[in-house]
Amino acid sequence: MTGLPPASKVKLGLVIDLDTCVGCHACATSCKEWNAGGIAGPLTDENPYGKDPHGVWFNRVHSYEVAETASREPVAGNADPDACRLPATGSPLPQPAMTLHFPRSCLHCETPACVTVCPTGASYKRAEDGIVLVDEDKCIGCQLCSWACPYGAREYSPVEGVMKKCTLCVDRIYNENLDESERQPACVQACPTKARHFGDLGDPESKVSKLVAERGGVSLMPELGYAPVNRYLPPRPRRTGDVGVETDREEVSVMADGNTMSRWIDRLVRR
Ligand code: SF4
Ligand code: SF4
Ligand code: SF4
Repeated sequence: MTGLPPASKVKLGLVIDLDTCVGCHACATSCKEWNAGGIAGPLTDENPYGKDPHGVWFNRVHSYEVAETASREPVAGNADPDACRLPATGSPLPQPAMTLHFPRSCLHCETPACVTVCPTGASYKRAEDGIVLVDEDKCIGCQLCSWACPYGAREYSPVEGVMKKCTLCVDRIYNENLDESERQPACVQACPTKARHFGDLGDPESKVSKLVAERGGVSLMPELGYAPVNRYLPPRPRRTGDVGVETDREEVSVMADGNTMSRWIDRLVRR
């Protein structure tokens, strides 16, 4: 089994805004394009034009329909309030139906199970910036890390017989051959709505940390104890269209409830 380095001061990670993500998959395809070469490539595709195309994707985007709701009250007959049509916004006011897009990739956990279960040391966490990587030369393809990751963030390549995952574009963010403005993960660079942000979440003064504090950003399933570094910003409350002007003003002032959104996303991830 593989040990972890002492907790790093620098915690590089992503902040993803679920309010402005439009589910376009530009992040997923730009990730695939960049990482098909370099340290993580190739990223194989099998049967790409057939009935059952599949392959290695470090970043996947899932889209969900959220039913309209009159309030945060539980739906009659359902004992579990979180299993009801609870709006992802956490707003206590009526919410219209909405489509929510949820990009999923490695969260670069602080105490990642994917590392500690690895029998060969192939899976490891960098002491200097917290990035979790796989050394493919040491990987025996046992897939234990894939079973251990509760977020489904590992990607096994049956063609190469090794495990792969998001590298936070480690071969890009420190690449001095690139212009400084381009030294960020390919997904962040490609996002047309600027829903993706990259930075040091270990520094409370960084732009990403301030954004998380301002918007009530959440981590996924923190109760599991793996301390994900990435954060998600909850969608803002929507207007129903059938309320008066005064109510509209009140509704806009309601901040999304991070805890409610976190529970809602947790249920999606657990499916
Ligand atoms: Fe490991 Fe999964 Fe955490 Fe990524 S999200 S560091 S693969 S446990
Ligand atoms: Fe380690 Fe590779 Fe096995 Fe994952 S698949 S636990 S990285 S040896
Ligand atoms: Fe969402 Fe941006 Fe990814 Fe498009 S590129 S799916 S808007 S995060």
